[in-house]
Amino acid sequence: MTQADTQTQKTSTKEAAAESTADGEAKAEAKAEAKFETEVKVEAVPRTAASVEADLRARLSKMKAAQRKGGIPDYDARVRNLDKLADVLLAKKDDLAKAISKDFGSRSAHETLVADIFVTLGAIKHARAHLASWMESESRDVALTFLPGRAELRTQPLGVIGIISPWNYPVQLAIAPLAQALAAGNRAMLKPSELVPETSELMAKMMKETFDENHVHVVTGGIEEGVAFSKLPFDHLVFTGSTSVGRIVMRAAAENLTPVTLELGGKSPALVSPSFSLATAAKKIMQGKLFNAGQTCVAPDYVLLPKGRVDAFVEECKNATKAMYPKLGSNADYSSIVSAKHYARLSGYIKDAEEKGAKLVKLDPGGEELSEESRKLHPYLVLDPKDDMTVMQDEIFGPLLPIVTYESIDAAIDFINDRPHPLALYTFDNDERRIERVLDETLSGGVTVNETMLHVAQDDLPFGGVGQSGMGHYHAKEGFDAFSKKRGVFYQSRLSGTSLLFPPYGGMLETMLKVLLR
Ligand code: NAD
Repeated sequence: MTQADTQTQKTSTKEAAAESTADGEAKAEAKAEAKFETEVKVEAVPRTAASVEADLRARLSKMKAAQRKGGIPDYDARVRNLDKLADVLLAKKDDLAKAISKDFGSRSAHETLVADIFVTLGAIKHARAHLASWMESESRDVALTFLPGRAELRTQPLGVIGIISPWNYPVQLAIAPLAQALAAGNRAMLKPSELVPETSELMAKMMKETFDENHVHVVTGGIEEGVAFSKLPFDHLVFTGSTSVGRIVMRAAAENLTPVTLELGGKSPALVSPSFSLATAAKKIMQGKLFNAGQTCVAPDYVLLPKGRVDAFVEECKNATKAMYPKLGSNADYSSIVSAKHYARLSGYIKDAEEKGAKLVKLDPGGEELSEESRKLHPYLVLDPKDDMTVMQDEIFGPLLPIVTYESIDAAIDFINDRPHPLALYTFDNDERRIERVLDETLSGGVTVNETMLHVAQDDLPFGGVGQSGMGHYHAKEGFDAFSKKRGVFYQSRLSGTSLLFPPYGGMLETMLKVLLR
């Protein structure tokens, strides 16, 4: 944690203390103290984990109290919230693109506008368009025995939703779940990633200016804040991030029996069928791999290619890369790796693969040296990868692409099924029956056929992993439902025969049971 971070946190703690102090004088004193500390930049005293957690608990209590007092927001109020969210996102889109680029070192503004703004706006608009029907209560069937009573399924907000988001698409992965939480009538507390501090601070400011702090609240800070955040008794917790941290978060949520949606990562394969054009497959796979420099949860992680086609595929990958990125270093379209730690991690994967006997093909269309400071990394194809290499064990999350060969479609399907269910699966094929076979015989969070990643951008499709790649869904109606309680209600009629079932049991019940148990 930087000193600036510590100072900001200290200031906000004091301000929170000032807010929560009932006594007017003490409140004024606490405020003055906070102001004094900000102005004179007193040496920051580290906060303890307990005090971080206590602050967050106090905030959540206030939000829950406000939720109870405010009651269930009606359709108009929810539409207003969605509109406010869309408006602030559009108004700040360029500032957000700048902030993300600053956090990354260099992040394509176009990719931010597409993946962080356009996709998020799409989700907001979709929720707004379908909100009335999603909110409607449903009438349900009643068995003859219980007529003329009636049954209904009501949809109610859960309360306050916690949202922990990662750095790779920092706006989309915080604001899209927020939109659905608000559509479902909830309040929300967000904890964006510490790896994108500019963006997180900007989102906090945007939300503060747009919503009451008891409606939407953004918690900035580092892992310590994340740990404390995951321990809070939310009514639902959405975590987007790595599988390893997902386990920790789920464990913490279990203490409160807080239900979780886990949007995790994994190794998403791209299966190229024997009859599919290698040029088309290479172009589409490289586009998916190099978007955001491969730092995408649904990026194709590795390719499954028919045996004997490697050389031709490598040439097509080189051509495709050169066409999209004639240069890398000075190219604003090609993003940097987010941090020195991730840069070192990916450099370690390359070294490990080389040491263990892989053949590496560096994709260097402009013949450039890329400096470590720029954190721009040449893409690499990894040929002859072995299972013990880190590129075949860990989710890559960068511009490295192992190419695994297969002898038959059965073997390719087995390769996929021998590993944890991936978040996404891509199959490049024009044979309908084989596509069906791949869909039926594998399991993944989602699938795009003959392209990569686009299933995520379909507003009417749910999104979420399965097994190691996650649990639960958001996006579409499934997201709205995840943040709602589906509450079954039975309305007894004034005229009803159920009292015949009350004790003392005797002849009447026995006669009825003879009929009912046939
Ligand atoms: P991460 O797991 O390191 O961090 C995610 C978030 O968790 C951050 O906000 C971080 O501050 C917080 N965190 C870290 N440690 C914590 C702890 N002990 N307790 C509580 N919170 C903690 O992930 P990342 O590096 O930010 O993101 C990359 C990962 O996210 C990849 O695995 C990627 O596949 C996955 N991802 C998944 C999706 C999806 O929708 N399924 C989308 C984007 C990224």
